[in-house]
Amino acid sequence: MAKTTAIIYHEDYLKHRQAAGHPERKERLAETINLFRDNGVFKSADLLTPKPAKEEDLLRVHTKEHVDCIKNLSLAGGGMLTLDTMVNPDTYEIAKLSAGGVILAGECVMQNKYKNSYALIRPPGHHAKRNSAGGFCYFNNVSVMIKYLKEKYNLNKILIFDFDAHAANGVMDIFYRDMSVLNISVHQDPHTFYPGTGFIKQTGEVAGKGYTVNIPVFECTSDADYVYIIKNFIFPLAKSFKPELIVVSVGTDSHKDDYMSGLCLTKAGYGVITNLMKELAEKYCGGKIVLELEGGYNLSALAQSNLEIVNSLTGVSQVEVSGKPKAETVALVNELKEIFSRYHRI
Ligand SMILES: [Zn+2]
Repeated sequence: MAKTTAIIYHEDYLKHRQAAGHPERKERLAETINLFRDNGVFKSADLLTPKPAKEEDLLRVHTKEHVDCIKNLSLAGGGMLTLDTMVNPDTYEIAKLSAGGVILAGECVMQNKYKNSYALIRPPGHHAKRNSAGGFCYFNNVSVMIKYLKEKYNLNKILIFDFDAHAANGVMDIFYRDMSVLNISVHQDPHTFYPGTGFIKQTGEVAGKGYTVNIPVFECTSDADYVYIIKNFIFPLAKSFKPELIVVSVGTDSHKDDYMSGLCLTKAGYGVITNLMKELAEKYCGGKIVLELEGGYNLSALAQSNLEIVNSLTGVSQVEVSGKPKAETVALVNELKEIFSRYHRI
């Protein structure tokens, strides 16, 4: 029987390196792939090898100055871009390969070769802005894929759901005036958390007003809270928007065991969220859904959560979570509904 899920990965992703002791390290992907092999994941999903994105793909999103900056610094042997983001001689090529991985994930779904796909890539991308790198990101992989698909397949409605612990500030920068991308980011409250932006009142500009959706959540936000937000706010929003494609940016730094955030998802929560996004994709996009990896720094939590995600994509497991949302989450959803009912039928 034909497989419905593609996993995109390249061994060269392990070549990219930050400074010694940096949390964004090659073991993040190596551990996941090993766990997948141990659990027979590739019996139910195909493993595909990507090619690097072309410079023209990057230039749909980034300025020439930014692309040249990463390229030239790599060619010159590397250096520090920001306090947390370093360039080494391989960075330019591997960052293009990372964006190319997400493009391939999009292509195999849009060409109906697979129903869903998951790009297991590094370096991540969602903090990279049009003209700057940062937060371990160089090129905005997910945005490069979206602009590529929009041009090739004439897509007009794409829904992004980013549930990395950190706000997707780069994606926000790129699509802030664009009503063709409903850009939803659930993240720890940025008042006291990187990147210090992604507030509920940042909702887009001009034609894009109402199409940037920042959902800042509190520390200890758990599986039940995420499920409540998705069912009570994101489901109605998707019903109003009617996406042609759903793109999910995964970050396992929202896991309770990841030291980077105070959020409290479990690995089962990652499976349940994947199933809910699949349900939305079935309703509006003929099942078309593309996932790609952003952050996640506890190696075990990252690998285990990725396994739950893929088992949900392939249909191998149907996990459930229990518990009630917190009062703060119910109040947050009410506030979101009030703000976004100005722009959408929710
Ligand atoms: Zn993150």
